[in-house]
Amino acid sequence: MTTKKNICIIGAGIGGLTTGLLLTKQGHTVHIFEKEKCVGGRARSFKGDDLTLDEYTSILSKTHMTLPFSDPPLDTIFEKKMLNGYTLDLGFHVIGGEVQTYLQQMLSPFKQQVNLLGSRLGYIHENGFNYPFLSKGDKFKMIPLILRLIFARESTMKQLDKISMTETIKKYGKGKMKLVLEVFPRVITTVNNLDTISTGETFRAQKNLLQGAKPVGYPQFGLTYISDAIVQCIIQNKGTIHLNTPVSGISITNGKATGIVADGKDQSFDAVISNTLVQDLFTIAQEKHFPSEYVNTVKSLEGTGSLCAYYSLKHVDARLLGKTFIFIQRNAGVNGNDAVGMIDFMTALPESRLSPQSHYLVQSYIICTPKEAKTKTTVDHLREILDNQLHQLIPEYRSNLDWALYPAIWQLDGVAKTITDIKPEIKTPVENLYLVGDCVKAPGVGINCALNSAQLVQAHMT
Ligand SMILES: Cc1cc2nc3c(=O)[nH]c(=O)nc-3n(C[C@H](O)[C@H](O)[C@H](O)COP(=O)(O)OP(=O)(O)OC[C@H]3O[C@@H](n4cnc5c(N)ncnc54)[C@H](O)[C@@H]3O)c2cc1C
Repeated sequence: MTTKKNICIIGAGIGGLTTGLLLTKQGHTVHIFEKEKCVGGRARSFKGDDLTLDEYTSILSKTHMTLPFSDPPLDTIFEKKMLNGYTLDLGFHVIGGEVQTYLQQMLSPFKQQVNLLGSRLGYIHENGFNYPFLSKGDKFKMIPLILRLIFARESTMKQLDKISMTETIKKYGKGKMKLVLEVFPRVITTVNNLDTISTGETFRAQKNLLQGAKPVGYPQFGLTYISDAIVQCIIQNKGTIHLNTPVSGISITNGKATGIVADGKDQSFDAVISNTLVQDLFTIAQEKHFPSEYVNTVKSLEGTGSLCAYYSLKHVDARLLGKTFIFIQRNAGVNGNDAVGMIDFMTALPESRLSPQSHYLVQSYIICTPKEAKTKTTVDHLREILDNQLHQLIPEYRSNLDWALYPAIWQLDGVAKTITDIKPEIKTPVENLYLVGDCVKAPGVGINCALNSAQLVQAHMT
């Protein structure tokens, strides 16, 4: 039987909230402390009507983002209230489709549900697009590899963990398979450099993709809808969420976490779970309690980056609505040489409820490194690529454009999942101190990693 504990979670991102819900379900007492006035962390949406220019730029800077371009200029967008009626996330977001079942299982006992709009992936090429990316004929040719993937054991995947995608492409990359192996590992990791992407990690994620009917999804009403639904369940289970309450310290005595400092008060807990960016851990936990190698490794971990674009259009061809497209830009001048990105029209569906009637929200992104996301000449070039790729799909899009926002991000994933960057384990060297979220070692990346890490923490607590 599980001993009931008094548990503190630092951060109400999607990883912290999910952990909170799973632990309240086990009967633990859970307190979640969030420094901001709202939940959701990086998976947060905001309503254009309520937003001021200052608030928008402040939200972006607090989440390691900036807005290098917009059309028209940002102050005009706000003066003319052009974002009224829109719901926006921080930047492009789609979720790995296998999450749908997980969310429903978690939320349905509480009579909560999240409707995920689902899409398959298409491909933008020089003369237009293919949808879906792989035709029946392509799949038929790839069946031997697909079957090997589906039935591969974890021990085989582990052997592939240290092999780079560049090596794998040299071995198996022929015809359409080469394109698949060049594109999907980049989408799955948000990293362009195939030398640093692990084959094991890619195949694991691809195996999950193959098992889901719709590989990518997006929640109706915006991303915050997921966090809000989880919050309702936590409250029903008598968990407590303290908003506007930054944690300023983790109390550690004799190698054991004993509580936190928040609101200027010491508060005792049986276990402390940090959902903050892992690189920030030592701003609230004293380094002297951890082995120095652990401190140095954690502090040096790098996230991933991208340039996103939101386009509000007056018209979208019905053939594109609800679909999501991948592209690869050769010789993009980025680390890894070629850059992959996506343009998504799930958000353009009227049932997404993200834009006023007769307006269509299209979201897109192109992968780059955190450093590239901060470099003016690189983002200039990446913007051009994004616009050109949209032009491939909608040649007349400029005459339909209401406005466009281009947020750049250098902490998309908390820690990049590469061969060189090893994400830290859920359990830290300090007893009763755990990590949760997209920075830690758990299956998938982004939101999927954050959700999966919550399950791992729950298993540790049991
Ligand atoms: C622009 C952009 C695009 C993205 N696109 C995708 C995508 O397409 N697909 C995908 O799967 N993922 C995507 N991601 C990544 C995804 O948003 C994250 O992986 C996920 O939201 C991380 O959740 P988390 O719970 O790990 O962390 P976070 O969301 O970062 O939550 C951490 C929380 O801790 C709080 N906090 C920090 N310090 C303290 C403190 N001292 N005291 C109290 N609270 C504190 C923060 O305010 C925050 O709310 C994207 C991210 C961005 C920014």
